[in-house]
Amino acid sequence: MLAPTTIPTVPPTVAPNPASDTGPLLGRSRADLITWVQQQGQPAYRGQQLHQWLYHKGVRSLADISVFPKRWRAELATVPIGRSTLYQRLPAPDGAVKYLLQLADGQIIETVGIPSEKRLTVCVSSQVGCPMACEFCATGKGGFQRNLACHEIVDQVLTVQTDFQQRVSHIVFMGMGEPLLNVEAVLAAIACLNQEVGIGQRSMTLSTVGIPGRIRRLAEHRLQVTLAVSLHAPDQALREQLIPSARPYALADLLAECRDYVQITGRRVTFEYILLAGVNDRPEQAIALAKHLRGFQTHVNLIPYNPIDAAGFQRPDRQRIQAFVNALKTQHITVSVRYSRGLEAAAACGQLRASQR
Ligand code: SAH
Repeated sequence: MLAPTTIPTVPPTVAPNPASDTGPLLGRSRADLITWVQQQGQPAYRGQQLHQWLYHKGVRSLADISVFPKRWRAELATVPIGRSTLYQRLPAPDGAVKYLLQLADGQIIETVGIPSEKRLTVCVSSQVGCPMACEFCATGKGGFQRNLACHEIVDQVLTVQTDFQQRVSHIVFMGMGEPLLNVEAVLAAIACLNQEVGIGQRSMTLSTVGIPGRIRRLAEHRLQVTLAVSLHAPDQALREQLIPSARPYALADLLAECRDYVQITGRRVTFEYILLAGVNDRPEQAIALAKHLRGFQTHVNLIPYNPIDAAGFQRPDRQRIQAFVNALKTQHITVSVRYSRGLEAAAACGQLRASQR
């Protein structure tokens, strides 16, 4: 299944949660929460308290908000907040923790908490499954179920924050799904995480395989979020083999949109490049890649392949990876190698697939 033909309408600026007076409370702005408590006959300051308990204390039921009057709490016990249920928690020896979260309709998604010295990063999912069907990705092999709503994205961050008892500092949209196929909810979640949870946009990265026209449209929102584009091949023919959804999207068009993104937002674009032994890891391929990126404000992030079942790929050895790095450096491309965390819990890039439970 490829990209849906209908393009979601995107508001001109990052809007607060569009479901501001219907649906779950999670995702709503402070002002909307104040309005909501007032509709319940309560004073405005209860809305401030609700905001604090929802977004900073991670409360799961309104009945647990101990600063609320007892009788009101009993009435509120059945109001849906929009939190998921923890289905499974899978810690990896390197400190990363994978969470399987069950949504209101029973679907399961995956989220990963990745601690490092000064950071706590959450790798969030934007869809249940993914329709892009990349050859090397477990999520793609598992098919697509549905888009996530704003509150289901925000919930993932709060779940990790509460479990680690530590403020989440960074967010990467690199879990299950293709964020640019769910633009409206992803933009609402970015706004909520930024304004309500207090995470800087510059500490968020949105990773996309590229959907025709949407990078340029995203640029018009002038977000401060880092855009990461999954390139993975230095030419169209190989890219199509690895990423079937790239067929209607010429590499030249994708790169042109990325250039526009840099020009419109003033932010550089990161290119992700998975390293698959014998497929796309030859030094000549690094040179060909560099040619496309000449004169571009960019950075290349190499991701050595994380093994998944039923994909006949292998990770190149360190020498081979270093040769690719060196070839890029000779072309003056800034490059880093990202060894994914969470491999042992099948929580690394490309290994997320709810059916592994
Ligand atoms: N759909 C988005 C985000 C999801 S995956 C995108 O494609 O960018 C985040 C990154 O992990 C992408 O660059 C993706 O190509 C990469 N990835 C997928 N499977 C992988 C695997 N088995 N090993 C290493 N990286 C993988």
